[in-house]
Amino acid sequence: MKCFFKKLLICALCFVCCGCGSNTMSDPWNTVSGPWNYTDTAMGTVMQQGLYCREEETAQKFSQNVERFAEELEQEMLSWRLETSEVYGVNASAGSMEGYPLSEELAELLRECIALSEASEGAFDVTLGPVVRLWNIDSWALGTQTEGFRVPAVEELEQALNRCGSELVRLEAGEDGQEKVYLQPGMQLDFGAVGKGFALTGIQALLEEQTAMTGAVISVGGSVLTYGRKPDGTSWKVGVVNPFAPSSFAGVLSLQGQWFVSTSGDYERYVEADGRRYHHILDPATGYPADSGVCSVTILSEDGMLSDGLSTACFILGPEKGMALAGAYGAEALFIRTDGDVIMSDGMKQYWTSNMQ
Ligand code: ADP
Ligand code: MG
Repeated sequence: MKCFFKKLLICALCFVCCGCGSNTMSDPWNTVSGPWNYTDTAMGTVMQQGLYCREEETAQKFSQNVERFAEELEQEMLSWRLETSEVYGVNASAGSMEGYPLSEELAELLRECIALSEASEGAFDVTLGPVVRLWNIDSWALGTQTEGFRVPAVEELEQALNRCGSELVRLEAGEDGQEKVYLQPGMQLDFGAVGKGFALTGIQALLEEQTAMTGAVISVGGSVLTYGRKPDGTSWKVGVVNPFAPSSFAGVLSLQGQWFVSTSGDYERYVEADGRRYHHILDPATGYPADSGVCSVTILSEDGMLSDGLSTACFILGPEKGMALAGAYGAEALFIRTDGDVIMSDGMKQYWTSNMQ
């Protein structure tokens, strides 16, 4: 089984490729220095920040704000595991006639997720919680379950799938105008496929509220935000992991300004058993890990939640349908197929440099 430390290595590689390896670059014209680099864990994965500003102290303080933001987002809103979170409360209320009052932020996120479910014909499904719990995916990432892994029985998957479907979620404004969500008995929301991208949108807002940081590249797991510019004006370099050799890159995206890049891959979290790989991106049509002939999908978008959600949806849909879905959202897509072929949207080509033969 792939362990947490391997994930750390992959993320560390991504970090270097993002151009955050040294503090020696400086701009003689405006005295902006950097990148000032910070590594932390957030949302069950590695968060890395490369910040450009004049003073190291300013960068450090900002990086701590970012870390606090990600931690609070998880604790107060998105975690299915922590009793303090809104999502925990929503899931605990499943089956109740009273519903559960939502913050504006979570109501908006849930609406966007339901829209993505519809647009992807159910390939993306924010209500897949019962199936995700059955596979016990979160324990794979933490490296705590090696012996205990078992493939769920067909009947168990059927029962769990019966409790899924975003069309079963009811979202309504209460008498006081606050929106409430109503889940049917046994339903469970899981924001694992969009949480990191959503967090990066919040971090983008933190960057926009201040002026000291003139450029930044911040990653949470396989999702990356680029912001502003480097002092020397060169592009941000975002590496796309080679799914066949995850300690190297399949290629690099060269980007100017503000972008969100998310990659979903079958090498990110998986268990190997009975001679096959069980990975963490599940097909809601079957309940099993998706098998659409791709091993990695990268999405480039101007929206964090969408880059993350679309990378998951497109992984399940495969290149043909996935390309159409990304296009409908104005996003660029890059698919690496299990046979090694790389397929990308026309708009992606201008940013991509391949490292593969
Ligand atoms: P990662 O979390 O490694 O960045 P993804 O963004 O692709 O990868 O999200 C995978 C996570 O999303 C899984 O761990 C699970 O919690 C959840 N998930 C798995 N399959 C689906 C799906 N079809 N729709 C929505 N969420 C899913
Ligand atoms: Mg995703």
